[in-house]
Amino acid sequence: MLCPRCQATLESTAIQCPRCQLILKAHGHPGMPLYRTDGDEALCATCRYDADDTCNFPQRPEATTCTLYRSVKPAEDLARPNHSLGERLGFWLRNHRGLVGLMGLLLLSLVLVLVG
Ligand code: SF4
Ligand SMILES: [Zn+2]
Repeated sequence: MLCPRCQATLESTAIQCPRCQLILKAHGHPGMPLYRTDGDEALCATCRYDADDTCNFPQRPEATTCTLYRSVKPAEDLARPNHSLGERLGFWLRNHRGLVGLMGLLLLSLVLVLVG
């Protein structure tokens, strides 16, 4: 793997480029890739979650870096690591906050009925 800024050779788990200090992973976590734009175009312009309107990140539609970017082109996705189950669950939960809240309320009322 090469550093996108200075082309230094990097370990795939590198969090930061040792030569130019470019941040490569999000939140200092080796398993959380941080995607960034190649040119001037925002990542969202080619992102699947922008295309299907499921992204509610505040940086959309101008994101230049993003942890959840997925290309609308499947071929490019093959070159990118898959999101872990946890990441996908987190994304789903963020996009279905209302539903999750409602389920929580239902569960709470059920518990209160059973206890009371
Ligand atoms: S997941 Fe990231 S790149 Fe994709 S639309 Fe949302 S902010 Fe943009
Ligand atoms: Zn570098």
